Amino acid sequence: MHQLNETHDTALTSWVESANQAGCDFPIQNLPFASVRRAGTSEPFRGAVAIGDHALDLAAVNAAGVFDGVVAEWLALAAQPKLNAFMAQGQEAWSALRLALSRALRTGAAEQAALSSCLIPLAELEYDLAMTIGDYTDFYTSIHHATAVGSLFRPDNPLLPNYKWVPIGYHGRASSIGVSGQQFHRPKGQLKAPDAAEPSFGPCKRLDYELEVGIVIGQGNALGEAIDIEAAERHVFGLCLLNDWSARDIQAWEYQPLGPFLSKSFASTLSPWIVTLEALAPYRAPFQRPEADPQPLPYLTGAANSAQGAVDMQLECLIQTPTMDAPVRLSRSNFRDSYWTLGQMVTHHSVNGCNLNAGDLFGSGTQSGPAPEEAGSLLELTRGGKQPLTLPGGETRTFLEDGDTIIMRAVCEKPGAPRIGFGEVRSTLLPAR
Ligand code: MN
Repeated sequence: MHQLNETHDTALTSWVESANQAGCDFPIQNLPFASVRRAGTSEPFRGAVAIGDHALDLAAVNAAGVFDGVVAEWLALAAQPKLNAFMAQGQEAWSALRLALSRALRTGAAEQAALSSCLIPLAELEYDLAMTIGDYTDFYTSIHHATAVGSLFRPDNPLLPNYKWVPIGYHGRASSIGVSGQQFHRPKGQLKAPDAAEPSFGPCKRLDYELEVGIVIGQGNALGEAIDIEAAERHVFGLCLLNDWSARDIQAWEYQPLGPFLSKSFASTLSPWIVTLEALAPYRAPFQRPEADPQPLPYLTGAANSAQGAVDMQLECLIQTPTMDAPVRLSRSNFRDSYWTLGQMVTHHSVNGCNLNAGDLFGSGTQSGPAPEEAGSLLELTRGGKQPLTLPGGETRTFLEDGDTIIMRAVCEKPGAPRIGFGEVRSTLLPAR
């Protein structure tokens, strides 16, 4: 677990003035990573760090020769089009580069003259996925989501008996994961209404989003070597937002006995900026189980995990339909309410000897809170499509319609700590082909 250090100091300010404004997602205490280039150009993508309303172009910083020694070597890796090689270096490298960038971006830093020409306004950027995702695993860590969805699919048996013992997950599809701005066509597939005798083939009629936290693996583990719970977070580079698009009607027909397949693999969308776990240190919270619930098995229990395994990360989901001028909020929830922690996901995933690699992605599963209005999917908000939502202007929705845009945002915020924002993930559903 990360300890607080000088990079978290709330008193720090930056010579990039916009980073010092209240409400900024990217103050000097954040310093998230992305892969960027100037929009509309054929420049190569390269690593960048967000500061205020600008990105610090790490390839330009590398060319300017501002840093020396091993930090310069790590900077060169972080400046590559994909961050996998930097992620694979491990926590020592991530922390050292964060510290060097924090010092160079502070008010009064001697590096201001050299670095000010390495800034690009965020408004002029386009993004690529920050890493090549070799493997994608989707978990199911919100017990509130699992219970609500279970009650729709299996009214007599909503929460399966393994849920409180096993961090449930399935192996997802990495090839169709895109970065914010992704547009995709409504998928087609086999659909079968409960009262129909046979399935039919056609466009999905129950297209849904899932509000999830994306967990980016940094250093991996060797095949055959499990990751101990006490060391698990050393393998996590950072967090982002993930919209795990879901075709509910395809899912309902296909999911038994082996789990989701084509209902999930047509598209998933990630926010561009990866917030490091170190930046989130002020927002760690105790991991607690209700007293009536079983305690996790010993391999999923650790002192640091119990003391601060949770993350106090406020999540928000919004919709903008083609007729709306501005998005409207659908729900809010908090990653702190997750039933399983980051460390438990990493340890459980590797406990059988499965190897993780730098750049692998975990989805947290839909993050729904305990209250009905904190539901992170339309499936829950509309009770399986039975209770339509009425939007401002009078439109209604059960599931998404062509042209709808879904926006997800997240922020960590509390008195006495720096505001750590995640930016947003935004993507639009196009008509079926
Ligand atoms: Mn999911």
